Amino acid sequence: MAEPAASRDGIPVGISACLMGEQVRYNGGHKRSRYCLEVLQDRFVFEPFCPELEAGLGVPRDPIRLVGLQGEAPRVQGTKDPSLDVTERLAEVSEDFAARHRHLRGFILMKGSPSCGLSRVKVYHPNGMPSHADSGAFVRALRRHFPELPLEEEARMNDPVLRENFITRVYAFDDWKRRVEAAPSYHALLQFHSRQKYLLMAHHVEAYRELGRYLAESSKLPLEEALAHYLQRFMAALGRPATRKTHANALMHVLGYLREAVDGETRQDLLVAIEDYRLGHVHLVVPIRLLNHYVKRHGSDYIREQTYLNPHPYELGLRNAI
Ligand code: SF4
Repeated sequence: MAEPAASRDGIPVGISACLMGEQVRYNGGHKRSRYCLEVLQDRFVFEPFCPELEAGLGVPRDPIRLVGLQGEAPRVQGTKDPSLDVTERLAEVSEDFAARHRHLRGFILMKGSPSCGLSRVKVYHPNGMPSHADSGAFVRALRRHFPELPLEEEARMNDPVLRENFITRVYAFDDWKRRVEAAPSYHALLQFHSRQKYLLMAHHVEAYRELGRYLAESSKLPLEEALAHYLQRFMAALGRPATRKTHANALMHVLGYLREAVDGETRQDLLVAIEDYRLGHVHLVVPIRLLNHYVKRHGSDYIREQTYLNPHPYELGLRNAI
């Protein structure tokens, strides 16, 4: 099976340095991730970053935590010594990182960290009591200065749906970087939308329709504006994980392209595979493999080029688990 082109060279992805086994945690330890180092490292070129180290906090260091009231941007202060306030320093190094790493296609984060945690990081009331949850300071800066960058916590990638979703987003963003951003034009944008259509449909059918309408009007807009709007909406839509129901809908649309080309018995087999998947009897790989088999032989260029049929390297086995 053909692979997404970028995987041959390795895709640049940022990662919290402690997940790479670097001893940069406040206590001099690390949180080495086997999945990242033993599986994803074959596909991604990891670029480790520790915002706290970069902000000049040494190793070992006094632990820090988020402090503030609900509805306010939390401050980052020392757990033992609240007069140690690194909010501005962390914001500066994070903004600088985002500016210097526009080539990244994603970032894998360490859970629970006041800097790197994606969400559900404890925020303490100024009186010292646990109050609510928020994102870490580095993540807040990434969202502000590089909003289209796919983010995920390493621990959440134990969930097969979230894992597949993150890696799908990384490969889709890579496609955008190489084939739209590298030589921007309306033609490149339309071609991107054309090959990503069924992937988008599987994740967010409303965004699929909305972006189709937007593109029909977009040639009247300045190119830069159209690209920025499309990318922001596209990446946000892919961030919503597809379900069995939404995948089954996209699969039925792909099957529609084969109706005339395959005989009744084959069509029935394909329908049964899609229905088995929708009902949870088999994994997504089953109907996808069957459809790919017939699309390869009988599909038009348009349907063969759909990234939905091959969004990431088959060997990662991501669709064997969802
Ligand atoms: S979680 Fe982030 S800030 Fe903390 S040690 Fe790891 S990379 Fe550094």
